[in-house]
Amino acid sequence: MNEWMRRLVDLQDLDLRVVKLKEQLAGVPAKSKEAEQQYAAETAALETARKAYLDAEMANRRFDGEIAALQQKKKDFQSKSALIRNNDEYRAAMLQIEMCDHAIAECEEKQLEAMMVLDELQRKVREREEELAAGKKRADTILADLATRQRNCEEAITELQTKRPSMVEGIPELPLSLYERLRTRWENSPAMPYVVSINGRSCGRCFIELPNQIVSNARKSNPHADEVEDKDIVTCPSCTAILYVD
Ligand SMILES: [Zn+2]
Repeated sequence: MNEWMRRLVDLQDLDLRVVKLKEQLAGVPAKSKEAEQQYAAETAALETARKAYLDAEMANRRFDGEIAALQQKKKDFQSKSALIRNNDEYRAAMLQIEMCDHAIAECEEKQLEAMMVLDELQRKVREREEELAAGKKRADTILADLATRQRNCEEAITELQTKRPSMVEGIPELPLSLYERLRTRWENSPAMPYVVSINGRSCGRCFIELPNQIVSNARKSNPHADEVEDKDIVTCPSCTAILYVD
C-alpha cells in the first residue's frame, strides 16, 4: 500500500470511530427514557397500592359506626323492656335484642375479615415501597452511567474531529473527494468501510470477485501523492469501494 492510501485508510478509521461513537450517543435518549418510564411505573404501582389500602381502611371504619349504632339500638330495647309489663311486648323486645346481637356478631365477623384484607394491603404497600426504593437506586445508576457515556462519547468525538484536519493533509485531492462523497452514505447505513483491501481477488467490502484488470490496476497504483490521476484510483464495480492491495 502506498503512503497516500495508508493516510486515506487512517482517515477512514477515524471517521468510522466517530460514526460508531455517534451511534452510541444516539441510543442514550431512548435508554434514559426507558429507565424513567420504569421508575414512573413503579411510582404508579405504589400509588395504586396506597389508594387500595386507604379505601379499605375507610370501609373498615364504617363497621365501627354500624356496630356502635346496633349497640345503641340494643340498649334502647333493653331500657324499654325494663318498663314492659305485657308478656307479648316483652317477648317482642327480647326478640329485637336478640336480632341486634346477631347483627352485631355478623358485623364484627365482617370487620375481622376486612382487617385481614387490610393487613394484606398494608403488606403490599410496604412491598411496593421497597420496590420503588430499589427502582430509584437502579434508575439513578442507569441515568448516571448514561450521562457518563454521553460525556465520554462527546469528548471522544471532539478529540477525533480536532485531529481530523491534520490527517486529511497529505491525501491527494482526487481520492479524498471521492472518499468524502462515499462517506456521506454512512449517515444512513451501518458503518462499513469504503476504502478496503482486495482479499485474494475479492472486494473487501462486498466480497464480489473482481476482474483481473481491476486487481492489476490496484497493484500498479501511483505511489506519488502529487501525481495521482483518475486511473490511479481503483474502485469496485459492484459497491464503488476504493480498493487497494496490501
Ligand atoms: Zn465491492
